[in-house]
Amino acid sequence: MTNVVLETENLTKAYGNKEVLHPTSFSVVKGEILAVIGPSGAGKSTLLRLLDGLESPTAGTIRIFGEPFVRASRKKIRSRMGILFQKTVLFDRSVVDNIALGLSYRRIPRAEQKRRAQETLANLGMSEYANRSARTLSGGEGQRVSFARILVTRPEILFLDEPTANLDPLAAKDVEAMILAENETNGTTIVINTHDQMQAQRLAHRVAVILDGSVVQVGTPDEIWYRPVSASVARFVGFQNIFTGIIKDKTVQFGGISLPAPAGFDTEVSVMIRAEDIVLTRNPTNISGIIRTVSRRGAFIEISVDAGVEFFVRIPYKEYDSSLSVGDSIFLDWNEDAAVIGDNQ
Ligand code: ADP
Repeated sequence: MTNVVLETENLTKAYGNKEVLHPTSFSVVKGEILAVIGPSGAGKSTLLRLLDGLESPTAGTIRIFGEPFVRASRKKIRSRMGILFQKTVLFDRSVVDNIALGLSYRRIPRAEQKRRAQETLANLGMSEYANRSARTLSGGEGQRVSFARILVTRPEILFLDEPTANLDPLAAKDVEAMILAENETNGTTIVINTHDQMQAQRLAHRVAVILDGSVVQVGTPDEIWYRPVSASVARFVGFQNIFTGIIKDKTVQFGGISLPAPAGFDTEVSVMIRAEDIVLTRNPTNISGIIRTVSRRGAFIEISVDAGVEFFVRIPYKEYDSSLSVGDSIFLDWNEDAAVIGDNQ
């Protein structure tokens, strides 16, 4: 386990008597990008502020670089990390001066600060900005300079709190490229908060889902988007078919439908299937139904089918068999692994 650089155990935060982060235990491996996703207000910023030492936990512990992250070790550990927010203030000076300011609290001579700032800009392919006044930068350029101001300190762990939330898509792409380059070139460990699930998929090696103050699943992108552990994670990552079922005799039963399942005794579970994983066919299967609605959704067609319970099916528009219409009898099919069984909450 030597490659774990950051670890929390029952990390908890309350404001007054409101617990906004319930006991949370997870670890971050050296060199990985971990994306923390969750709806607004779920507790993502709170978690990141705790990890960066800007706030103190109400209970639980954090270990970073193998040491407890406590008051005595705070300064030393923090000097090896950096945090970038959604919005940062740049000073009304040149870009290179702003970046050098990232080093101002370290005991480095002024000329050396400036030299390192120039070097950082050069490494980032941003040398042409060096003498620009920070006041004249666009939002995207400003965020890249703020990022450079952190990178000049050569952080080993980088925390990014919704770093592109204020940017247009093109500027966001530039910042994403910086994130990937920093991780690949310097092996920097990165924890990024985002409400943008596409961004998490573009960047992350692993993903932590936080819902209502609880980290409910940590896993690879495939696990999060295809093997959610519960109905609430499935809902958040876009599953449209979520049914309550009962496990009996190695089957799960819901709405008159029975599917193979792990053994269990009268356990209530959720059965979760992505709308895009269901196939409509005229060849008989175990599940028959009647088409209730057919709606165009951009490049897709969404079809609802009454099969005792209501299923949603999503088909790329170009693959849609236009002879399917409301009132038709139809059969549903999917690969066995498309039906995921998880917690019913
Ligand atoms: P997210 O980053 O996922 O949007 P936050 O961590 O900002 O969520 O907030 C989680 C919850 O904690 C919210 O209900 C928010 O109102 C509350 N909260 C955050 N900071 C404070 C604070 N300083 N005092 C009281 N409540 C706070």
